Amino acid sequence: MKRIRNFCIIAHIDHGKSTLADRLLEYTKTISEKDLQAQVLDDMDLERERGITIKSHAIQMNYNLDGEDYTLNLIDTPGHVDFSYEVSRSIAACEGALLIVDAAQGIQAQTISNLYMAIENDLEIIPVINKVDLDSAKPDEVEDQIVDLLGCKREEIIRASGKTGLGVEDILRAIVEHVPAPKGDPDAPLQALIFDSVFNPFRGIIAYYKIVNGTIRKGDFVKFVSTGKEYNADEIGVLKLDMSPRQELSAGNVGYIISGIKTSREVRVGDTITHVARPCENAIEGFEEVKPMVFAGVYPIETEDFENLRASLEKLQLNDASLTFTPESSMALGFGFRCGFLGLLHMEIVQERLGREFDMDVITTVPNVSYRVYDKKGSMMEVHNPSGLPDPTLIDHIEEPYIRSSIITLADYIGPIMTLCLGKRGELIKQEYISGNRIELTFDIPLGEIVIDFYDKLKSISKGYASFDYHIHDFRESKLVKLDILLNGESVDALSTLTHFDNSVTFGRRMCEKLKELIPRQQFDIAIQAAIGSKIIARETIKAVRKDVTAKCYGGDISRKRKLLEKQKKGKKRMKQIGSVEVPQKAFLAVLKLD
Ligand code: GDP
Ligand code: MG
Repeated sequence: MKRIRNFCIIAHIDHGKSTLADRLLEYTKTISEKDLQAQVLDDMDLERERGITIKSHAIQMNYNLDGEDYTLNLIDTPGHVDFSYEVSRSIAACEGALLIVDAAQGIQAQTISNLYMAIENDLEIIPVINKVDLDSAKPDEVEDQIVDLLGCKREEIIRASGKTGLGVEDILRAIVEHVPAPKGDPDAPLQALIFDSVFNPFRGIIAYYKIVNGTIRKGDFVKFVSTGKEYNADEIGVLKLDMSPRQELSAGNVGYIISGIKTSREVRVGDTITHVARPCENAIEGFEEVKPMVFAGVYPIETEDFENLRASLEKLQLNDASLTFTPESSMALGFGFRCGFLGLLHMEIVQERLGREFDMDVITTVPNVSYRVYDKKGSMMEVHNPSGLPDPTLIDHIEEPYIRSSIITLADYIGPIMTLCLGKRGELIKQEYISGNRIELTFDIPLGEIVIDFYDKLKSISKGYASFDYHIHDFRESKLVKLDILLNGESVDALSTLTHFDNSVTFGRRMCEKLKELIPRQQFDIAIQAAIGSKIIARETIKAVRKDVTAKCYGGDISRKRKLLEKQKKGKKRMKQIGSVEVPQKAFLAVLKLD
């Protein structure tokens, strides 16, 4: 145990975590240069393209320093805000962290929030300035930022480049010398912290853990504390480039277990593994059940694809336990599923994977958050769909989730960012200079305002010079009302939204205007109305057009005529019929496009 070092890497997206990790694996000969096909730690296509490590993994390296052999376990962490709970469990499994900061970009929001998590967990922090090879590198300035943030000495900061390999040796030495060896008692009852799991089509679910106390042996009868389920440890081992089986592993080690688990829901990140015969007294602290906070309807474009969509979602769920789905039906869109996601990026990933891996074309409705609706008797129900809201007369009040967010930007952009956040019902909590003219703004904002058109606006008003990070903070009572959209008097459930009462009239008006642009003129007038309950608050009309496309053909050329009709039919396929009105798919996302 004295020769084990468990560490993770904290970095903002694109600051070079994966590249540097590869260099460490190369230097320690964990992988040969030949094996090093791009970035080993990101093994999904999607991840590689986005440059985001979506699922965390772990890998063991052997390193000899001054004649002593050390075992270094690198626990990779997901790089995006939607997965911050998983990050927190990976951090909890480590004794040290490399803090990687891009020499050109400086400290960003994601870096700070994960750093705080590491400090809370008493991790030893090794600061690294990466990409010093870049012409645009400003290592001295970034060094100032790190010193301000950590209160460390300048000499402790390692300058590195994942590209040239500069500093890699210094990093390995620092890990051995500064990261403490894990503590823990190999003879105590077993306590192993699950920090990740993966689905393997041949072996079932494989759980990754760090042993905090005790020893696990192949064939042991073990229990997962939060689910109460018991399994036989068919295989245990450590994670090299592949799985490497062992007979036993004891306190301080990082390993995997294969025990015939079929579904990802049985393995919860943060759960404790213990022995059935000699259980530990307490589970490891910090376990939380992650709940999806963002919901959207996902509908097949072709009605007959409903069962295919279900099968695809089930497959996705095998290695993504945080994805939830329940069947629902919409008058406008037919049969589909209400899916729950950790956040917006998670939603995008699922949508993309449905298309890419399962060839499923879907319509996604406007996302909404999870609301807590209290009735007059004081009982609460969670509502994941505006159209599922009970009758207003039965509702006492509604609560919505708020995030606490951190925005790091340059002083020049404070004005527009303030305007944006306040316009999104945000509340400024703190405003702090980090160094030079970089500033951190802390806002509490309703999550429901973030899921609609926030990132893009933030990016454009700050010209890309703003990084954003958040976590769910609390639920607060809000004056929310359900806004319905009616087309020729018929309410379109897929267009209903929950909106704040104070903004509802403006919002309704803008929805009507936008829909007027998006719905093509048809052979009769179409009335678009926005309503709260039975009260109409806005109205637009699309004037009729007599659309005779064949008229242009002078009656003569019959094949040309047929082609035009075919074309028109195809166009129709991407429309949904609402009563007598044909609505194009993009109209269902109208609310995302309001200016
Ligand atoms: P991650 O998102 O933190 O894992 O970042 P990656 O390791 O995927 O790197 C992001 C981008 O920066 C990639 O295009 C890398 O090739 C590039 N990169 C990483 N490290 C360096 C470095 O030290 N110098 C330079 N010039 N580019 C780097
Ligand atoms: Mg990466």
